[in-house]
Amino acid sequence: MGVFSDHQPMFVEVETTTYCNRRCDYCPNSVFDRGLRRNEVQMPTELFEKIVRDLGDNNYCQQFSPHNYGEPLADQRMPDLLELAREAMPLARIALYTNGDFLTPELFDRLLPSVDAFIVTQHGEKMPPGVARILDRAGGSHPKLRYKTSQQIKLNASNRAGLIPIEVRQRKACGVVMNEMHINAHGQLILCCEDFLARKVFGNMADTTVEEAWSSPERLAVHRGNIRGEFALPQCRTCGYGRMF
Ligand code: SF4
Ligand code: SF4
Repeated sequence: MGVFSDHQPMFVEVETTTYCNRRCDYCPNSVFDRGLRRNEVQMPTELFEKIVRDLGDNNYCQQFSPHNYGEPLADQRMPDLLELAREAMPLARIALYTNGDFLTPELFDRLLPSVDAFIVTQHGEKMPPGVARILDRAGGSHPKLRYKTSQQIKLNASNRAGLIPIEVRQRKACGVVMNEMHINAHGQLILCCEDFLARKVFGNMADTTVEEAWSSPERLAVHRGNIRGEFALPQCRTCGYGRMF
């Protein structure tokens, strides 16, 4: 039995676009130009399909989300991509994390059959108008929609492995590599959710299967070291959480 067969990632995140319309000060998009429209990279649809079919073939039954540092609903293909993901991975929980800026009742209805949970974070001063209309229409709340504000992020903000200049409590150990798979819009299997700049890449999903990538010896060595707090990578030694105000 392969590693993937008895140890699935708790989270798989696949970025379909690098573009985000916001520049939040707790996000590397405020420091680097990767998220600008002029630098946008979109994952080819064929590669997205290959990844979700690989996951489905492995009976993936944990959480799948179509994001990294781009805003998923800025990608016009998102309803079709998630329909594909739903069909390929019937057992997975599909969770869509979004800033809500592009969400409308019509788009929400289009996405509903594919998405198990919408996690909307308000990054601006006000609730995005489309989100307000969805909630009004549903009588104030919707069972599939969780709403939060950026205040919660600021209370326990990540320094994104040293990319955001805040004082942090450094991690003593880390289980992210053990539990999660993060793939950016280039198809690179990156270290973790904090790896905005793809400073550690374990391979490209265009050239490998999800199973091979997940259980590669190099990746497993980082997994084993990090859960013991034996951080071999410099970015792991600068990674932590602090308050932002
Ligand atoms: S909306 Fe999200 S991805 Fe975009 S800049 Fe803000 S925190 Fe980063
Ligand atoms: S310690 Fe390393 S692997 Fe863990 S979240 Fe930070 S940068 Fe990522």
